[in-house]
Amino acid sequence: MNHINIAIDGHSSCGKSTIAKNISKKFKMTYVDSGAMYRAVTHYCIQNKFIKDQKINLELLEKSLDKINISFIYNNSLDKVETILNNENVENIIRSHEVSENVSKISQLKIVREKLIHLQQVMIKNKNVVMDGRDIGTKVMPNAEIKLFITADINIRAQRRFNEIKNKDNDLTYKKVFDNLNKRDFDDVNREINPLIKAQDSIEIDNSNLSEIEQNNLVFELILDKIKL
Ligand code: C5P
Repeated sequence: MNHINIAIDGHSSCGKSTIAKNISKKFKMTYVDSGAMYRAVTHYCIQNKFIKDQKINLELLEKSLDKINISFIYNNSLDKVETILNNENVENIIRSHEVSENVSKISQLKIVREKLIHLQQVMIKNKNVVMDGRDIGTKVMPNAEIKLFITADINIRAQRRFNEIKNKDNDLTYKKVFDNLNKRDFDDVNREINPLIKAQDSIEIDNSNLSEIEQNNLVFELILDKIKL
């Protein structure tokens, strides 16, 4: 199967990347985590001290944009795709709470979105890509053959995320995770450029009460139906 692209959008921590990775394995498609790209730019800004007192030094960021190279590499031993920023593997650090706290400020910026959308559109040219994010079905691949919009109750999302990362960060509390998701959802839905909205032709899945296997079955069936057409 090499002739379709799949766009997956939805709120923060609703399991988009889990379903995207499972699709990629089952149908041998390339997985692109567009959120990781926004996180990598955010990490670069933190590392280079472009963010001070909640404000971004736009001038410095704009001057540095060409120096930010993001790519993905498949880690054989962990059987997962990892994010590379300027030759450094940043897969773990971009998931830190500090990056999560700052990423919405960076993802609102026109210059950042233009750069990343351009990179993403180069990646999907040859099709066979499953990409997850916030504007994939609406802006990055409006012609995707399949569009999914994933959602789940925010309490369930916060609990899942907290369970996932609590061992990596001792200072983290459920409340911190909940507040961060709430704020990111608000920022993503209300930003001026490419806000998170459900594409008209996307299929909505609320996975609050679905197990990973149940969600896989539902989505795989949708894809198989589509390919048969
Ligand atoms: O998907 P993830 O939660 O890792 O994304 C991190 C952040 O990147 C989101 O909160 C959002 O602000 C931004 N993002 C975006 N557009 C995308 C993907 C992510 O604005 N396509």
